[in-house]
Amino acid sequence: MDYLPIFIQLQDELAVVVGGGRVAARKIELLRKAGARVRLIAPELIDELRELSLQGSIEHFQSLFAPAYLDGAAVAIAATQLKEVNAEVSRAARLRGVPVNVVDDPQLSTFILPAIIDRSPVIVAVGSGGQSPVLARRVREQLEALLPARLGALARFVGDRRREVKEALPLQQRRPFWERIIGGIVGSRVLAGEEAGVEEAFAKELKSADAGGEVYLIGAGPGDPDLLTLRALQLLQQADVVLYDRLVSDAVLERARRDAERVYVGKEPGSHHLTQERIHELMVHYARKGLRVARLKGGDPFIFGRGGEEIEVLQAHGIPFVVVPGITAALGAAAAANIPLTHRHLAQSVTFAAGHVLDDATLDWRFLAQPNHTVVFYMGLAQLSQIVERLRSAGAPADHPAAIVERASLAEQRIVRGTLRTIADSTRSAELSAPALLIVGKVAALARADLDAVALAAYETEPA
Ligand code: SAH
Repeated sequence: MDYLPIFIQLQDELAVVVGGGRVAARKIELLRKAGARVRLIAPELIDELRELSLQGSIEHFQSLFAPAYLDGAAVAIAATQLKEVNAEVSRAARLRGVPVNVVDDPQLSTFILPAIIDRSPVIVAVGSGGQSPVLARRVREQLEALLPARLGALARFVGDRRREVKEALPLQQRRPFWERIIGGIVGSRVLAGEEAGVEEAFAKELKSADAGGEVYLIGAGPGDPDLLTLRALQLLQQADVVLYDRLVSDAVLERARRDAERVYVGKEPGSHHLTQERIHELMVHYARKGLRVARLKGGDPFIFGRGGEEIEVLQAHGIPFVVVPGITAALGAAAAANIPLTHRHLAQSVTFAAGHVLDDATLDWRFLAQPNHTVVFYMGLAQLSQIVERLRSAGAPADHPAAIVERASLAEQRIVRGTLRTIADSTRSAELSAPALLIVGKVAALARADLDAVALAAYETEPA
């Protein structure tokens, strides 16, 4: 670390600012927000600062800088456009042991001002070590979007009750308790500004603080961590235990809390590492211990994810749970390959089908083979030729477009495009492997560079 981030208490402390321009005005505004008494040294002031001085909100010395002005200062900021003056302020402050910031000059500064997000009493500070204030501000903007607007209200709510909780609960129960409050129903009500019933809900939680945990059934999306939902991220960061599948990428897993226990519960294709029953047992086991369990699944928990069975078990055991939807692989793959799954002219419906169980009783092949329909086959790679065969005998033409997307949204993503005639061979020669999705339908040809408006028109006039 080039710097140690700290928060300084400036309430009623003296802050000396040198310089009377716009930059100084911005720093003064910040210092006053933090409760500092501002002493301003400048021979000339812009109107805004003169106004403050006339109101008596700041103490102004209309003169050149002299070291004695720093007497009693808790911090000093030099914001003049004169390098020599700034350097002199820096030197004088250092000699007196007063922390000093020279605007835009990390070399002359002993502290730098970060970009901040103010949800007082929650304050987030972002610094780039003076390398790039623009980058720091950009990071701030990204964080800004993640943080609930009423975060400050929640912090005060918690602050007001800390003593009560300290007296009511032993140490090891406090953190889980607060995390349940902040991440649970009470917290979300405070964040939403709904005061009614919050007190009662809080009291109830406090009374049953040693009760069981809860489970978050979270869809992790196709792999790229940026495709997690905000809620998935929030819950992932508060879970004590993460039970994760084979399809959950390392990058997604890294977004879990650092000290969370990570438990792999993947089922390898073929060799069943863990049975579904064992996963159920583990979920119940951890929740019963009072922990917050993130059950993290690739894509969406309710699309070929056995999420339905898992919530049945949780319901049967009376364990509270929440389901967080994820971007299912079909949507991730379609976006990655620029294949619209529906299209005004080319596909009016789309099916997500399981490609590993191919008997006629489970899938209506005639329907899937219809010209203006898109089918996305999950888990279909191993049986690709059989799928093609079935679609063909149900009436799909040999030149019906098809595409395979392997490891959609991940760095190693590969896409193979073709038709029902070519797709199996192309896939074999490209040596594609799971996880991969097969997309069949006219839309599968859309993203091809050679398919222009003319080809599109041909599709529309083609007899069905
Ligand atoms: N619940 C998951 C699907 C689980 S079934 C979801 O909603 O996405 C497993 C199948 O999903 C794999 O066999 C593969 O067909 C597909 N799949 C999952 N992640 C994928 C990815 N990143 N790229 C391509 N296919 C993927």
